[in-house]
Amino acid sequence: MEKRISGHTGLMALFGTPVGHSGSPAMYNFSFQHDGLDYAYMAFDVTEEEMPKVFESIRLLNMRGGNFTMPCKNIAAQLVDKLSPAAEIIGACNVFVNDDGVITGHITDGVGFVKNLELNGAPVKDKKVVVLGAGGAATAIQVQLALDGAKEVNIFNIKDKFFERAEGTKAKLAEKCPECVVTVDDLDDKAKLKDAIKACDILVNATIMGMKPHQDVTLVDKSLFRKDLVVADTVYSPEKTKMILEAEEAGCKAIGGVGMLQQQGAVNYGLFVGKEMPLAEYQEFQK
Ligand code: NAD
Repeated sequence: MEKRISGHTGLMALFGTPVGHSGSPAMYNFSFQHDGLDYAYMAFDVTEEEMPKVFESIRLLNMRGGNFTMPCKNIAAQLVDKLSPAAEIIGACNVFVNDDGVITGHITDGVGFVKNLELNGAPVKDKKVVVLGAGGAATAIQVQLALDGAKEVNIFNIKDKFFERAEGTKAKLAEKCPECVVTVDDLDDKAKLKDAIKACDILVNATIMGMKPHQDVTLVDKSLFRKDLVVADTVYSPEKTKMILEAEEAGCKAIGGVGMLQQQGAVNYGLFVGKEMPLAEYQEFQK
């Protein structure tokens, strides 16, 4: 450490609350050291109300970049100088990059998700995708799918507070990505869900169902799985959800949530330092 941190070392950081559990400092600091880059990454516990001061600090300390987590992602989007196309549509950002005082906000959950699909041989261009969920992860995925040329995005959500958000996403995408057909339906309309899954290429679970403590739950009956269907889950704990295990059994291409998490980190690293993250080396180091 005494060899790595010097008077020139640049600061990057995660802001939000809570942040104590975050794996980001370990992952980025390993990568900086591996690549011989003179940066250090820290995590700071801050509230939404403190975000204007955070932005003063980012500018004052000339931080190169960093991340925002809950509950600071939306307010951050109002405090940056520029937004990526996805961050503008969503009105939230989880990444910032400071280019000579101009701070750009990005949202990379969806980028990481799509990149992980592509790495697993499932490109989204011209595909029909059913997305279960309308929360933070689901919205980022829906917007990225539309930006990356998916033909159709069929959103299904229960009639909770997130349903309205799905309607909002549909309206924004109709304006920004009119070539992508977006539909919103009640997840409890089983007949509609069945028809949509039958007609789609890729099925995505972006709800909390399947995640601990809901690990025994799956939202899709396994009888709907067929060999040419790609089934993807955002849930990474457990690593293989019930839905993923049943999709594997049915011979589908089944893609769990761990890869999305990793690719999101890799996308962020690329934005910070313009290099490929040494992901394989970090995974080896973690063993
Ligand atoms: P969120 O709280 O913003 O959204 C929750 C979603 O779950 C909503 O769509 C809600 O309607 C749905 N939901 C809640 N209870 C339900 C029920 N009983 N039946 C059906 N749907 C229900 O959460 P989020 O931050 O978007 O996270 C959603 C999932 O995505 C989580 O499992 C999280 O672990 C995962 N995630 C993964 C990554 C990754 O990198 N792999 C990143 C972010 C989030």
